[in-house]
Amino acid sequence: MAGLYIHIPFCKQACSYCDFYFVTRQQHKQDFVDELIREIHSKENTRFTEDPIQTIYFGGGTPSLLTPSQVGSILDAINSVFDLDLKEVTLEMNPDDVTKEYLSGLKSAGINRASMGVQSFDPELLKFMNRAHTSSEALKCLELLKSSRIDVFTADLIYGNPGQSLDSLEKDIDTLLQFDPPHISAYSLTVEPQTRLGKQVELGRIAPPEDDTVSDHFDLVVEKLKSAGIHQYEVSNYALPGKEALHNSSYWSHENYLGLGPGAHSFWWSEEQKSAQRWSNKPDLRSYLKSNWNTPFEKEVLDLADLAEERLMLGLRTRKGLSKKELLSRYHFSFSPKQTDYLRQLEASGKANIDDRIQLSTQGLKIADSILLDLVTMKPE
Ligand code: SF4
Repeated sequence: MAGLYIHIPFCKQACSYCDFYFVTRQQHKQDFVDELIREIHSKENTRFTEDPIQTIYFGGGTPSLLTPSQVGSILDAINSVFDLDLKEVTLEMNPDDVTKEYLSGLKSAGINRASMGVQSFDPELLKFMNRAHTSSEALKCLELLKSSRIDVFTADLIYGNPGQSLDSLEKDIDTLLQFDPPHISAYSLTVEPQTRLGKQVELGRIAPPEDDTVSDHFDLVVEKLKSAGIHQYEVSNYALPGKEALHNSSYWSHENYLGLGPGAHSFWWSEEQKSAQRWSNKPDLRSYLKSNWNTPFEKEVLDLADLAEERLMLGLRTRKGLSKKELLSRYHFSFSPKQTDYLRQLEASGKANIDDRIQLSTQGLKIADSILLDLVTMKPE
């Protein structure tokens, strides 16, 4: 099984916290679609077309800046090159792009999952994030998604914003829950150095919230969603049973995926499964339009030790956790005595459950980053 990630690099404006690759000029959209279709055709009869494709993810950028007919032409090209066994075809969208006709056009083009960037319903926070949409556009979009023919939708929320109170976050969650979302991604705001927010923090104009505040926000998200039957299946992802995201889950379990478009990353196992390669296209639309996708921009070979470490980092962030048997058979990895002691301590303090599987509890998931760092940097005695 394999997945395709398609990077659509256009945005109306730069959100203050965002460090994804995007451009705010819009004039080359059709040229980009034509080039993307050329890149798709370049994969014809290569090793990438040997596995059936089960998931396709249009991310960005803002994929909803494409028309349904452009999305349809990309999917047609994919269909003509790859063997498809599609379970999930997701498109990220922003509320200000969505109409009833737009959603119906996407459904006809083949999209069966919509991922909407809500982030917050608080007008002040939307302004702080420099989002292009308003709170009422988000409400209207959720109403449309709820009644649309698109099978599943998910909405993103961001918590841990400077000055955001627990009450304000609770209102955001309650508002979102009115639309019965099958899936929610809730991220704690991350301050990336190369963003407007990063620069403001560096200059001391904005102070990020205290860890305790972010921790209270996390607890509130987990509790409120749990009482609505939406369970946490990864540190930042929550779903009704059976509505978990397949595409993102396949990243966490090291399935092959091919990235297309400027800045897109790919991951592919070697034939004998003893190593894997990760590479990316250059994050530069201008050179992409000159077919620079022929030359990988960054490329690394990961041996089984690198892959085991990565699998630990990704797998332990999921509620399902990791199986020791899988670590041994797929990665030839077993925990050192020191790591085993550390895991036992986590279990004794209620942060993990350990038998053949290692699973972090909700309390463990809350501090997953520091647990994982401890675990992978632990020197064997
Ligand atoms: S719309 Fe999305 S990709 Fe574009 S700037 Fe905002 S967060 Fe980044």
